[in-house]
Amino acid sequence: MEYIVSARKYRPTTFQSVVGQSSITTTLKNAIKNNQLAHAYLFCGPRGVGKTTCARIFAKTINCSNVTADYDACNECESCKAFNENRSYNIHELDAASNNSVDDIRTLTDKVRVPPQVGKYSVYIIDEVHMLSSSAFNAFLKTLEEPPKHAIFILATTEKHKILPTILSRCQIFDFNRISIDDAVNHLKYVAQNEGVTVEDEALNVIAQKADGAMRDALSIFDQVVAFSGKNITYQQVIENLNVLDYDYYFKMTDALLAEDHKQALLLFDEILKKGFDAQHFISGLAGHFRDLLVCQDLATIKLMEVGASVKQKYAEQASKCTLDFLYDALDTATDCDFQYRLAKNKRLHVEFALIKMSRILTKKKTLTESDSGEKDTNTGTGNDSSVTTGTTKNKAAGDRLYTSKDTDQPVKKVRPKRTPSLKELAGGKIPGEKDQSGSVEEPQVEMTSGTNSGNANPFTQEELGKAWDKFLSTIERSNARLHSILHNHPPKLKADNGIELAVLPTQQNEVEDGKGQLVVFLREELKNDKIRLDVVVQKQEETKRKVFTAADKFKLMAEKNPALIDMKKKFGLDID
Ligand SMILES: [Zn+2]
Repeated sequence: MEYIVSARKYRPTTFQSVVGQSSITTTLKNAIKNNQLAHAYLFCGPRGVGKTTCARIFAKTINCSNVTADYDACNECESCKAFNENRSYNIHELDAASNNSVDDIRTLTDKVRVPPQVGKYSVYIIDEVHMLSSSAFNAFLKTLEEPPKHAIFILATTEKHKILPTILSRCQIFDFNRISIDDAVNHLKYVAQNEGVTVEDEALNVIAQKADGAMRDALSIFDQVVAFSGKNITYQQVIENLNVLDYDYYFKMTDALLAEDHKQALLLFDEILKKGFDAQHFISGLAGHFRDLLVCQDLATIKLMEVGASVKQKYAEQASKCTLDFLYDALDTATDCDFQYRLAKNKRLHVEFALIKMSRILTKKKTLTESDSGEKDTNTGTGNDSSVTTGTTKNKAAGDRLYTSKDTDQPVKKVRPKRTPSLKELAGGKIPGEKDQSGSVEEPQVEMTSGTNSGNANPFTQEELGKAWDKFLSTIERSNARLHSILHNHPPKLKADNGIELAVLPTQQNEVEDGKGQLVVFLREELKNDKIRLDVVVQKQEETKRKVFTAADKFKLMAEKNPALIDMKKKFGLDID
């Protein structure tokens, strides 16, 4: 019997069976239902998430002569059969990665003029469309501007930012998500069942994680594991086969650090190295483990955990043993170690030192609290306190700015607990027992209900919006300088009905769309209003050009293109006039 790889064998043939892209398939189905087909679509997203598959299903469905009640292809009519057997003349695929010349595009556009013999539409799928040469792009643009009635183009790309704005503006754009671990695991389960393979849930979880959001990869890894271990797959086999470090090591390591047992930590690390794992791989994995523990501490953020139910319990248990402060400092040390790893001469010592540091976090905290009665502390561990000037921390300017607006005039003692909110902002959740504006201490239970799903709709003013906006800016200042600069230079406008308008330049649209989700979540939380919408309005180039008439405007525009200019301006204390 011919062996067919799972990724091909289980490739979805209807919208219904596409994994993890329900919002996209629904929109496409609705377009078919309402007979509102566009002439050009752009499918963006990472590799292996179903772009080409959806394009093929779409092509098949709009040519199906017997569409189901649910607006899916029937897979039975002559056209559907031709599609399924790869012999349909209504679909043309071009891989732009290998056919990117003007001539390739000309051959295609010549074909476009000819109407289809059977079926209603000719669908042209251009994969990896960002690979087209610029002259090929231009040649294609003409066809895209005036396509014949029967032609539909579906462009697919992993790199949306490389697509010319002239093309973007002519396409209906669909952004495909990475497949979530849950969706991937469920689909793998289905495939395993069909193949008569028994497999432990945790094993599937590891496969899904390794695939990093790409269903196609998940299925290939699954095939690989089946080839290696046969029809009965265990967690142990999978981590051996995929060379994944057993998460048990992270649990044991965290236990050792909590027990302040640096000897045990070093021994564990030695054991990991002896198993052939890379030290940096371990330290970044450990950082990920701390992140998961942190996320686990709050019901609002627990959904960010992407592990199976059985392990979740384990995480919850360990998380309950850790304080937020411990996790923060451990995460800080681990990410720092990871970051500096390449520069370190003695890599082993570099990681060992980080482990020793982490095993002393609790002791240090104790000493700190004891010396707290003193006027001024000379600590090194607590990073973000705006008033601590002696700290040897790397969170210099940006970290400080986070809280200076509120904290500068307050005495040191009161300032210290403020260090934690940056975590809250990082994790997007609330800290149990944290004081709210009215000064009362909320119970964790209360926070669960006041979380994202309760439907708050607090009215807010432009001024409050501005404050929340600035607060968001300070959280992304270091992590996303480009977005920071764009949002800084384009203040939001409050509109009716909880709407917020943000006008940006065409060149900034991608960045803003990418960061939009995070921003909206933040604003909703900050302004206690779950109805907030953010409308990104793209200004026409001419409008914006007219506005540049002062030197300050010019600087703004330049700084948007090159955020380093802002730092330079600050450093040299330059004035723009
Ligand atoms: Zn059909």
